[in-house]
Amino acid sequence: MKAVIFEQNGGPEVLQYKETPQPKAGHNEVVIQVKASACNYNDIWARRGLPGMEIILPHISGSDVSGVVAEIGPGVHNVKVGDEVIVHCGLSCRECEACTAGNEFFCKDFKIWGFQTGPLDGGHAEYCKLPAVNVLPKPKNLSHEEAASISLVLVTVWRMLVTRAKIRAGDFVLIWGAAGGLGIMAIQVAKLFNARAIAVASGDDKLKMCQELGAEFVINRSKQDVFKEVRKFTNGKRADIVFEHTGADTWPISMQCLKWGGTIVVCGATSGFDAHMDIRLLWNKQQNYLGSHLGNKAELVDAMRFIESGQIKPVVGKVLPLKELGRAQEIMERNEVMGKIAINPA
Ligand code: NAP
Repeated sequence: MKAVIFEQNGGPEVLQYKETPQPKAGHNEVVIQVKASACNYNDIWARRGLPGMEIILPHISGSDVSGVVAEIGPGVHNVKVGDEVIVHCGLSCRECEACTAGNEFFCKDFKIWGFQTGPLDGGHAEYCKLPAVNVLPKPKNLSHEEAASISLVLVTVWRMLVTRAKIRAGDFVLIWGAAGGLGIMAIQVAKLFNARAIAVASGDDKLKMCQELGAEFVINRSKQDVFKEVRKFTNGKRADIVFEHTGADTWPISMQCLKWGGTIVVCGATSGFDAHMDIRLLWNKQQNYLGSHLGNKAELVDAMRFIESGQIKPVVGKVLPLKELGRAQEIMERNEVMGKIAINPA
């Protein structure tokens, strides 16, 4: 089969489109013929290499796919050959105390498939292999490109806003990177809960899309002062929730924009993880700073109901062929992405 593989960390030039053996289904595993995969920022972190985390080489990235079950291993009973499926990329033992309590990300075996797995175990390929418990039915109302673009960002946003920050009707939610992969889902989840999304992005075309998705207020961070605008929209009260993943560059502004007793929920640090923090704000304003990482399968299943009902929609800004995965990553690194980039292996 064809796949995009890297054998050393580096820039997009380390990605090679080449032949590699097709995976075989082991016990309780399925092989999926990939009809579309989707790009996530973790593809870029893996390619660049991350301090303190082993990236297993040679590596195939890709944590989101939509496709058709091509083979099932012994013990598989939840899917059959020919079923159309999407994936949940959180792998864990599913037997330990953490897993059975619904905290799969606290399992000692927890890994994000297509990021921390390997060698050669991810979705940017013609075929891929996963535990059968990690596949879900593909929503019938979506194309493979749309279906591939959902899981990782939707489950992450659902956990951040619903489980962790406990979003409520009327909450002002400040959303950084609102036109990116996480942002498009955060706007729609906020709208679903009758909260008031304040979308931040770096271009007017992106902000127009955010308004179409349900953002009540928009801020162009390349022309406007985010704090000033947030104060204006909230009548001086500031945001109830700040949706953070942009990191060091935005963290001090996020703190400034948060109301007394408000919640910052964070899952990433695109601009750097060494953020400055005045911890006086933490006690004086009694604010809540919550970390969040991916989500569990039940949270994904919960959120998928709103994909099936059409209340949350995928946004595929671009579809590129598998051999152009490097170009897709460059578009993401330049912050030019509108919604998600889907990859077509055909
Ligand atoms: P994405 O689609 O590339 O979108 C990120 C957006 O962030 C960009 O469109 C850009 O928007 C904005 N941005 C980038 N640098 C910025 C800066 N210095 N200041 C303000 N805004 C900036 O990426 P994504 O898929 O949404 O993921 C975002 C981050 O979350 C990544 O770091 C990723 O690794 C992390 N993440 C973590 C988890 C988890 O479970 N822990 C899950 C998913 C993602 P504008 O230029 O338009 O403002």
